[in-house]
Amino acid sequence: MNKLIFTGFSSVLMLAAMLFMAGCSKDKDDNDNTFNIFSVNDDIALGIQLKQEIEAHPGDYPVLDSTQYKNAYDHIYRMRDAILATNLLTYEDKFDWEVKIIHNDSVLNAFCAPGGFIYFYTGLIRFLDNEAQCAGVLGHEMAHADRRHSTDQLTKAYGLQLLFSIVLGNNPAQITEIVAGLAAGVASLAFSRNAEYEADEYSVKYLYQTEYDARGVGGFFLKLDSSPQPPEFLSTHPHPDNRYDKINEVWQGLGGKEGELFAERYQEFINSLP
Ligand SMILES: [Zn+2]
Repeated sequence: MNKLIFTGFSSVLMLAAMLFMAGCSKDKDDNDNTFNIFSVNDDIALGIQLKQEIEAHPGDYPVLDSTQYKNAYDHIYRMRDAILATNLLTYEDKFDWEVKIIHNDSVLNAFCAPGGFIYFYTGLIRFLDNEAQCAGVLGHEMAHADRRHSTDQLTKAYGLQLLFSIVLGNNPAQITEIVAGLAAGVASLAFSRNAEYEADEYSVKYLYQTEYDARGVGGFFLKLDSSPQPPEFLSTHPHPDNRYDKINEVWQGLGGKEGELFAERYQEFINSLP
């Protein structure tokens, strides 16, 4: 917690100084036009804090032991490693890209904390039909982390408030409170529609460089739409319009190559779960 407050503060102060000195409002670590007051190390610090929260509450987050369930983890590691091997991720080496499986068959969700800490619920793994869909969702989650969508969103939510408080020199206690609250809120933070489109786009781009069919994430969303009640996934990943069309456009734009689904091997993954 202390470390986070410190790093959060330092980046905010640095940014305030930058605004005064140069009128510059672009994070140099970011290669898009999104304004983000946090540093990449802040992303990692937030992710570690979230990971510690999860580890401290095994009742709420029963994480499968990676030694006991080695076969299951080998399946998801293979998908993650194929995505990392594309060399398309900006923070391929900087983030740990740790994946954990949470044992709860009734939760249809996956999330990736800032800094690349990935969590997949068994409910989502069982829901999917093949490895291309699972790798597609994984690519989508990894894109959220690699494109730093959480801290983009936190900047939108709190950035100006933090900056004004610091610039005007008022209410330091309130600032501390805001920064301390960020990690707690980060898991339940809903991404913007643009972030969703971008995560889809990058998932297709990553998978296109692997043997998987690059439209895997589209197959997942198609299945979601036919599910009877809105799954938890949609609470943190709002469903933008024309999602499949856009996924198909990106795929066509890359050349429209069909890939593998690995449906049989995916059944082995499901069978290796408790
Ligand atoms: Zn998403």
